[in-house]
Amino acid sequence: MARPKRPQQYYDDIKNKFREQRDLRLGYRPPGTNQYTSELSGDLAKYAIDPYAKEVPNRDPISDEVEVLFIGGGFSALLTSARLRERGLESIRIVERGSDVGGTWYWNRYPGAACDVVSYDYLPLLDELDYVPVNHYSRGPEIFGHCQAIAHKYNLYDLALFNTTVTETRWDEKAQLWRVKTDRGDVMSAQFVICANGTLAKPKLSAITGMESFAGHSFHTSRWDYDYTGENLEHLRDKVVGIIGTGASAVQIVPELAKVAKEVFVFQRTPSSIDVRDDWPTDPNWARKLQPGWQHKRREKVLAAVENSLEKRAAKGTTSPEEKLRKQENANIDYMMRIHKRIDEIVHDPETADALKPWYMFMCKRPCFHNDYLPSFNQPNVHLVDTQGQGITEINRQGPVFAGKEYELDLLIYATGFEVQQTGIYNDIFGAGGVNLQDKYASGIRTLLGIHTAGFPNLFIMGGYQASFQFNLTEMLQTQGDHIAACIDYVRAKGQHALDVKDEAEEWWVQNVIEHRGKTSRSEECTPGYYNFEGNEQRRQDGNYNGGFRRYFQHQGEVRDKMEENFHLIAKGVGPTHLGSEE
Ligand SMILES: Cc1cc2nc3c(=O)[nH]c(=O)nc-3n(C[C@H](O)[C@H](O)[C@H](O)COP(=O)(O)OP(=O)(O)OC[C@H]3O[C@@H](n4cnc5c(N)ncnc54)[C@H](O)[C@@H]3O)c2cc1C
Repeated sequence: MARPKRPQQYYDDIKNKFREQRDLRLGYRPPGTNQYTSELSGDLAKYAIDPYAKEVPNRDPISDEVEVLFIGGGFSALLTSARLRERGLESIRIVERGSDVGGTWYWNRYPGAACDVVSYDYLPLLDELDYVPVNHYSRGPEIFGHCQAIAHKYNLYDLALFNTTVTETRWDEKAQLWRVKTDRGDVMSAQFVICANGTLAKPKLSAITGMESFAGHSFHTSRWDYDYTGENLEHLRDKVVGIIGTGASAVQIVPELAKVAKEVFVFQRTPSSIDVRDDWPTDPNWARKLQPGWQHKRREKVLAAVENSLEKRAAKGTTSPEEKLRKQENANIDYMMRIHKRIDEIVHDPETADALKPWYMFMCKRPCFHNDYLPSFNQPNVHLVDTQGQGITEINRQGPVFAGKEYELDLLIYATGFEVQQTGIYNDIFGAGGVNLQDKYASGIRTLLGIHTAGFPNLFIMGGYQASFQFNLTEMLQTQGDHIAACIDYVRAKGQHALDVKDEAEEWWVQNVIEHRGKTSRSEECTPGYYNFEGNEQRRQDGNYNGGFRRYFQHQGEVRDKMEENFHLIAKGVGPTHLGSEE
């Protein structure tokens, strides 16, 4: 559909409003990412407890050796394991803090949990498992079940250790093995270690004054307490419930609370953009006709469509970079104004409708898709508490306090998100020479492809920074898993023991990341959020690779085509293991 012609002034005025709204928020949060805490100890320890592991079985500490050890049991571990099994690797162990595989979909069992990527694209290994998802969009339990099915198919339960957190991963230079310690007293050895600890796995809370004093019940969205709420939230019928945060989790939860709870208070700092969710049951006739390889072909088509998106089309045929950027921005603003219009059409109360409007470019914050979130605000039991960019800064015995008003609650739910793309959560990683990975990264992240980092032989990182981020994360993780399995296979096939990325290969990638960051000024102009480090954009190389997903995928292949140029290959018993650059 042709876009209406509007004067440039219209777009400039909206961009000014975006800037004002961003500055307002930046003014409220000088601490940036430090406004959150994920150190859930002391009074906050209850927010980290796993409510789904009803009984944690006793076991003796383990001190054996495996070939490949995964830290974490989500899709990253499952996808890579599948490829390793296909290549004949037998000794694979998953070590997971939760009591089963699934990662995100193990932990996030809140009511309404669902994926925002179309199921036929998101759920991986559909061909291999001969499975077609039930709906166009998968709900959480289906995805969790799919993770379990992958683990069964590839025989990953036998060696797995659940209810176990890796606390230290240290390269033993003499033995040329990783020594992996856990909170259950294990000291295991592994030739290869894969950090599959998740992009959004460690819950964080906003550090709010007085939060420990709240006398009601409270939990984080990724630790849903069904004992308190009831399986179908039936215990909330006589309860006043508050939820802090209006990001992707809250957008799925609020409509479910609205159906049952006596009162619901939604505490908003910055609204999400909410678009239509076109969901329908999978057509069995369509499913029956699918040919082998269908998912791969489909994903390829989706990627091509994204690359040819509205914004890109807007930029076609334009010559100067400024003109191209202007057209892209205008197309983006048109989209966001359509989101605003939708709010006006759905939400009856004009003041509430206005407060729900996101004033930033599309993709500044994680976009959401839901048909019932906005209508919830038409219900008499649902109240939006718009803090106009400030957020809740005080909680007392009764509940949150804002603008001098106290909100007395029975239940307070923290929908405050997660640590983002950290490598080594709950876990200290020490490479050759005892170097701590966090110390190495202190002056800037250094990796090849976001997967390998020099001085940490046979260690692979999944879902970390300097990789290509794309909206369908499992597709990205699958490429990393394929790459890692191919690297491990290469080491074995060559009769070698270890591989360590060369300094110059790492430097090449760091420069590549730097070159592609800041392609547009959009990220700096964005309202603060986790996509732009809460507004701290001055981080040269500490973000994702922005050169495009296809290009990232091609680079993986190019790196593998020249393994000996990019890596030191180390035979068993030959050291030192980190050789540095070859002069
Ligand atoms: C609520 C929510 C909704 C999402 N929706 C989407 C979506 O719509 N589309 C999309 O593409 N992506 C979505 N994601 C992102 C999602 O995380 C990825 O798609 C994918 O599931 C990540 O898989 P993973 O294996 O890398 O990480 P995870 O699934 O997070 O698994 C990592 C696991 O590692 C474990 N772990 C971490 N540290 C340790 C340790 N030291 N010792 C032992 N275990 C450890 C954790 O307990 C966790 O179970 C969503 C994430 C969340 C939180």
